[in-house]
Amino acid sequence: MVEKHTALTVAQEQLKIASEKLKLDRSMHALLAHPKRSLIVSVAITKDNGEKAVYTGCRVQHWDARGPFKGGIRYHPNVTLDEVTALSMWMTWKCAVVNIPYGGAKGGICCNPKEMSKGELERMTRRYTSLLYEFIGPYRDVPAPDVYTDSQTMAWIMDTYSQITGYSVPGCVTGKPISIGGSEGREQATSLGVVVCAREAAKLLGMKLKGSTVAVQGYGNVGMNAAKIAYDMGCKIIAASDSMGGIYNPNGLNPYEVQEHKTKTGSVAKFKGSKSVTNEELLELKCDILIPAALENQITNTNADGIKAKIISEGANGPTTPEADRILHEKDIVLLPDILANSGGVATSYFEWVQNLTREHWTVEDVNRKLEDKMVRAFNDVHKISVKEKSDMRTAALMLGVGRVAEAIKTLGLWP
Ligand code: NAD
Repeated sequence: MVEKHTALTVAQEQLKIASEKLKLDRSMHALLAHPKRSLIVSVAITKDNGEKAVYTGCRVQHWDARGPFKGGIRYHPNVTLDEVTALSMWMTWKCAVVNIPYGGAKGGICCNPKEMSKGELERMTRRYTSLLYEFIGPYRDVPAPDVYTDSQTMAWIMDTYSQITGYSVPGCVTGKPISIGGSEGREQATSLGVVVCAREAAKLLGMKLKGSTVAVQGYGNVGMNAAKIAYDMGCKIIAASDSMGGIYNPNGLNPYEVQEHKTKTGSVAKFKGSKSVTNEELLELKCDILIPAALENQITNTNADGIKAKIISEGANGPTTPEADRILHEKDIVLLPDILANSGGVATSYFEWVQNLTREHWTVEDVNRKLEDKMVRAFNDVHKISVKEKSDMRTAALMLGVGRVAEAIKTLGLWP
């Protein structure tokens, strides 16, 4: 039977599994299952043609027991409150897994950014920021980029927040351009973490990273940079895809040339010397490492059995359903879960925030060294739990993340 999952049912199921394994009492499970605050806003703008338009936006702040809320902002036609709630929960666990002092949040606007001009996107971003103003800030909730938002979006948020406050507040947002307080290495950080995790897993399996074949679903910030980093470490990138289609070449693709092609044509599709594959076919290609780096619910009980990769390193949030997790575990495929594998982005966001609050600027070498250190430590923490519990890496990561958050809530107690 085909599973009927949304991102939120997946997140709730994962929380249930972790709560049972951790033997959390029912009331703690209930606390963790509900976000602290969900805001819905109507983002009104004047379009380029003079007409008015209203977009529905939201910001979900899940838990902040370990520090200020932290999480990306997504612009996509399928954004819903449920999806953003799931993403906010994953942020809470992820910050705890990689052990940074943040809680979890996520935001989104239901819109089609591909059909909007730069001016419209700027006005929408600024209006959205003004509507959230009282609830965000460097000590409250610190947004970052996600699907179809980027460093320019973050610059508009910082400027709007700073103009309303009356002085420059670089720490109100991360993933900014370097010229206004962004961190060296932030753009590639999520992808570096994804590849470092795959490298650590390969070591455990006795596999060499050099020469390993890699397929990447989604060729945006995370997927493209992961392909380039893996290529630079000696992997062979055999397939890549985006929302317009996929490409395959068993002899290897040069990800830098694929990027140039995408910049020129808007898609990886029809890259010279490659065969075309669908996104579904890409997931089932014979390869050593599969990197899903697009959207949720891509690996389900309908295709998990066909997956041939030895390692899956989740760049995307929520690409795999719980039933697919079970199938992959039975097939001895090592799945490195999102809350571990893609936590390099938020870890480097944390470094950016620390630099902003202390008015420092670190070198890229410093940032990447600190990032590798955090990723390897988190990988080992999760792996130790998976060995002790004889569980897959997802269950182990959830136990670590959920356990740390539950401990913080218990220690703080509930006010009043
Ligand atoms: P992005 O907007 O830069 O890229 C998304 C890519 O996915 C694009 O190439 C798009 O064409 C492609 N895509 C969209 N729908 C697709 C489909 N149905 N099939 C195949 N490809 C499709 O976004 P991003 O920042 O790279 O985020 C990608 C994923 O990584 C998301 O799940 C996001 O939540 C997660 N993530 C991002 C970061 C970050 O630092 N940007 C950090 C952690 C997790």
